[in-house]
Amino acid sequence: MSTFDYDLFVIGGGSGGVRAARVAAGEAGAKVALAEEDRYGGTCVIRGCVPKKLMVFASGYGGMVEEAIHYGWDMLNRGFDWQTFSGHLNTELDRLEGVYRKLLAGSGVTTYDARARLKDAHTVELSTGETFTAKHILVATGGRPLRPDMPNAHLGIVSDDIFHLDQLPKSILIIGGGYIACEFACILAGLGVEVTQYYRGAQILRGFDDEARGLIAESMRELGVDLHTGTNIVEMDCYRGEDDDGMDAPVEATQYAMPAKDAPQEGPLKVKSTNGHVKVFDQVLFATGRRPNSDDMGLEEVGVTLKRGGAIEVDAYSQTKVPSIYAIGDVTDRVNLTPVAIREGMAFVDTVFHGNPTPVDHDLIPSAVFTQPELGTVGLTEEQARDQEEIEVYCTSFRPMQSAFADKPGRVLMKLIVSKKTRKVLGCHIVAPGAGEMIQMAGIAIKMGATKEDFDRTVAVHPTMSEEIVTMRKPMRTA
Ligand code: NDP
Repeated sequence: MSTFDYDLFVIGGGSGGVRAARVAAGEAGAKVALAEEDRYGGTCVIRGCVPKKLMVFASGYGGMVEEAIHYGWDMLNRGFDWQTFSGHLNTELDRLEGVYRKLLAGSGVTTYDARARLKDAHTVELSTGETFTAKHILVATGGRPLRPDMPNAHLGIVSDDIFHLDQLPKSILIIGGGYIACEFACILAGLGVEVTQYYRGAQILRGFDDEARGLIAESMRELGVDLHTGTNIVEMDCYRGEDDDGMDAPVEATQYAMPAKDAPQEGPLKVKSTNGHVKVFDQVLFATGRRPNSDDMGLEEVGVTLKRGGAIEVDAYSQTKVPSIYAIGDVTDRVNLTPVAIREGMAFVDTVFHGNPTPVDHDLIPSAVFTQPELGTVGLTEEQARDQEEIEVYCTSFRPMQSAFADKPGRVLMKLIVSKKTRKVLGCHIVAPGAGEMIQMAGIAIKMGATKEDFDRTVAVHPTMSEEIVTMRKPMRTA
């Protein structure tokens, strides 16, 4: 008989925590509880991947209507209605949260709608005042958007806020050049918002393949995003009209309804940037990274160590310095992707409840950036691979049939990085509509260790964009 209230207490009801709790209870027969202070489903379901992808779909229809007209359809695009979309979005998110709650209940997991913190290595204290003991504690509290440390940063919004806007802004400034900045720049431009993006570095999407980054930047500009690289925000404040003297002129103010002087949180913002310009935007979105949710949880007090930036330090089995406490997902800041958190949750259950120590395999993880077009990527970039060994680069860029017919400018990119010595495909980078779907398939072959010759042996599916992946005969360059 266990002397603990539970075999496992999970803190955090996002993708990783819910999966670990369900599997531990449902498959391993453990007595499991889970505490969540907010909505079940976490970042991915409630304020990340899912609502973002639905917005990607929504933003794509405008261009599709234009394209359809070129294909002979008699259509009228009367514009996008945010209220209709956000109503349907909220209904869908409520449904999904209900599904998550049902899955937990169906697996026999006891849930507490409360904030939890650690009291000791085996005790969790809830904001309701209750305390529970558990043989194992799993921290899966995720992360949250981070605003830069500058005066008035609170006047800007972060990605969580986008889904709760009463109306779409007419204009927005997006700060950052990562996944979230680029995805929302494309989404909002597609929905008709005037989008300006400032990125402090030389090229957006740092860490991805340079050629792919270049093409995404070009495509974003074609989409209408006013993208400024080597540019950052310096100051921001509320804009109070043409007689506003809070910052240096010239203010390129246009058609805004001016807010009352004592209502600073509503209405346009003026922004001074490193290039010396002062411009006015309806909204400023900070997409400047995320921070692990590890604050005020009693972690360090019980002996769990945190890394710089607040991430929980864990070993390959997701175990912290305190043997009974494990951590998975974004709070550990390893690879911050939903399917990785889920994998880490499953590996934790195998390790702890099935007696099968399972390290998490973080190698060759395919992923996608949902820009327009999408970027699908797996393995090494050209830049990483050539630092490691001699490589061949197979690459092609072309206008795809569907958009060429509609006289649209967009190009796609198919790229393979191949080891000269082993012939293995070390990396695959696709910029194309549907690249997220394509890279999942390519990821299987590359994870299996496929060589360039394995790709070549595969017959093309014609006519598709992805057939180029198996028909590139000569390397574009070697390095
Ligand atoms: P990223 O770390 O990807 O990007 C943050 C961006 O903000 C970078 O361009 C960074 O610049 C810039 N930045 C950071 N601090 C400042 C500052 N003080 N001033 C100006 N710019 C700054 O974070 P995101 O928030 O975009 O995404 C977080 C994580 O979420 C991703 O890494 C990813 O793991 C996950 N995610 C995955 C998605 C997917 O799979 N499709 C979608 C969305 C998120 P610099 O490059 O110079 O550091």
